[in-house]
Amino acid sequence: MEAAERRGISLKRLGGWEPVTVTEYEYDGDGRLVRNWSQPESEWDQREQAWVAALAAYRAELCPCGCGQRYADVTSDEETGPQFVASRVVCRARLALLEAQKAAETQDVVGGARLWHVQMQKG
Ligand SMILES: [Zn+2]
Repeated sequence: MEAAERRGISLKRLGGWEPVTVTEYEYDGDGRLVRNWSQPESEWDQREQAWVAALAAYRAELCPCGCGQRYADVTSDEETGPQFVASRVVCRARLALLEAQKAAETQDVVGGARLWHVQMQKG
């Protein structure tokens, strides 16, 4: 869902869906076309709207501190609510970036304009 959200498209369009346009024609008694009317399928049908609403509801339940836990859980009673255990891992890509930036630290004006990238090395 978040990949679709980042692109501003529906989940079904992310999966390859394309709208079908249905056109209806109206003719008079002599067979002349008097009106036509085209309607593309809605990208944001009830199912897609439900996905967006579900994502919003999920996010609304999260603690605003960024811990990734449900607010109701993290603010629950300490004695009766769930317990939490913290652990850590190191993002080695971020570590490589920070180390490279520290090694390149200079006082010149160019330092703030450097654009940094991290790539995974193969093999
Ligand atoms: Zn939190």
